[in-house]
Amino acid sequence: MTGWGESLFLLLLHSRFYTGNFIFYNNKIVLIIMEKFDPATNLERLDKKDAYRGVNPAICDSATFMFEQAKTMTDTFHGETEGYFLYSRHWNPSTLSLAQSLAAIEGTELAWATGSGMAAITVALLHEVKSGDHIVSSMTTYGGTFAFLNNYLKKFNVDVTFVNMQDLEAVKKAIRPNTKVLYTETMNNPLLRIANLPELSKIAHAAGAKLLVDNTFTPMIFSPYRLGADVVIYSMTKYVNGMNDCVAGAICGSAEYINSLIDVNTGTAMLLGPVLDTFRSTSIQKNLHTLHIRMKKHSENAMYLAKRFKETGIKYNYPGLPEHPDHELFKSMMNDGYGFGGMISIDMGTAERASAIMEKMQELGVGYLAVSLGYFKTLFSNSGKSTSSEVPEDIQKEMGMSEGLIRFSMGLDNDPERTFQLIKQAIDATK
Ligand code: PLP
Repeated sequence: MTGWGESLFLLLLHSRFYTGNFIFYNNKIVLIIMEKFDPATNLERLDKKDAYRGVNPAICDSATFMFEQAKTMTDTFHGETEGYFLYSRHWNPSTLSLAQSLAAIEGTELAWATGSGMAAITVALLHEVKSGDHIVSSMTTYGGTFAFLNNYLKKFNVDVTFVNMQDLEAVKKAIRPNTKVLYTETMNNPLLRIANLPELSKIAHAAGAKLLVDNTFTPMIFSPYRLGADVVIYSMTKYVNGMNDCVAGAICGSAEYINSLIDVNTGTAMLLGPVLDTFRSTSIQKNLHTLHIRMKKHSENAMYLAKRFKETGIKYNYPGLPEHPDHELFKSMMNDGYGFGGMISIDMGTAERASAIMEKMQELGVGYLAVSLGYFKTLFSNSGKSTSSEVPEDIQKEMGMSEGLIRFSMGLDNDPERTFQLIKQAIDATK
C-alpha cells in the first residue's frame, strides 16, 4: 500500500473516533468496515440477557458467593476462573453488569462502579502514586478534588502542581521526572473551559505519566479514552444517573487496569472498599439507556439560553457559541449529536447580586438553588460560594472566576423560552 492509501490507513488506525476491521487481501491491508464511534449505539449493541428472561438486569442481593469445590474458590482468589464471583466488594453480577454498560458507553474494555464520584477520583489517584511522587493537575477542578489534591495528599508526601491546562507549555514545564499523573476535567468546573485531551495525552505519555480525566460534565459528548486518556472518571451522581436519587461514581479503563484496581493483594479499590451497592448499580444501569436523550435535551436547552442571553446582552459563558475560547477545540473532540452540554453560567458581578437573583429564580420556579448538576430540574448555585468554595479566593481570581458567577445545570424543561423569561424577570427584579 503506498501514497494516500497508506496515509488513510495510518490515519484511521490511529484514530480513536472510528472503529473498523482490517483484512489482508492481495498482500494488502484493506479496511472493510468503518464507522464513527457512538456511545449510545455501542450501549444499545450490548445484548444483556438476564438469567430469568427479565428485560431488566436482575439484582443480585448477595454479599458472598458459594463454590462447589474448594479449589475453584482458591483459583477465583487468584483471578484464574471465569464466571465465578468471590465477594461483592470485588465483583457482583449487578455491579459487573453496570460496569459492562459503562465500558460500552466509554469505549473502554472495562469499568468499576464506586459509591461516589469522590471515591472514584481518590481511588484512581491513589492507585497511581506512592510517597515522593508528583501529580500535575488542572487549577480548575471540582472543589472536593482540589481539596484532596491540595490538602489531603500532603499526608502521603505526594506533591501536586496546579497549572492552567489551557497553557500546554505550562503543563510541559510542570512535568518532573517523578510525575505519575496528569489530571484534568474534560469540561472544567465552573468556567467551562475544555481540556485539549489529545495534546495532554501526548505530554503525559512522553513523560511516562498517565492522563486521568474526569468527564462528569460531558458524558457521551466526549469519549476521553478514545481521545488519549488512560483512565476516565465519573461522578455518576450527575448526568450519568440523572435522577438525583443517589451518589455514585465510576472508573473506566483497560481490563488490565481495572483488574489491577481490584487485585486482592494490591488493588486500591479492593483494599479501600468503596464499592457501589447492588440495588443502586441496577437502578443506575437502567437510567443509562436514556442518557443520550437527556444529554441532547440538556444541551439543546443550554444552547437556547445562551443564544437568548447573547441577544439580550446578559454576560454569559457557554462553549456552544463561537465566542467561547474553546469552541473550535470542543468541536474537534466532540461526538456527533449530543450538543455542547447542559452547563452554562452568567456573571452578575457581585456575590450579593448573584444571591438575590438565585433566590428570586427559585421563587419564580426556574429550578432549585442547589449544588450538583445533571438533574432533570434546573439547578443553580454561586460557584465561588459553593462547589468551588474549597478553592482559595486568590486561586479563584487566578482562574478567572467572578464572585458573581451563577452556574446553571439546565434541566429538561420542555419550553426553554419560558425558562429564559423567568430568569430575565429575576435579573430585572434585582437591578
Ligand atoms: N467531579 C465533578 C466534576 C463534580 O462536580 C463532583 C461533585 O460534585 C465530583 C466529581 C464528586 O462527585 P460525588 O459528589 O459523586 O462524590
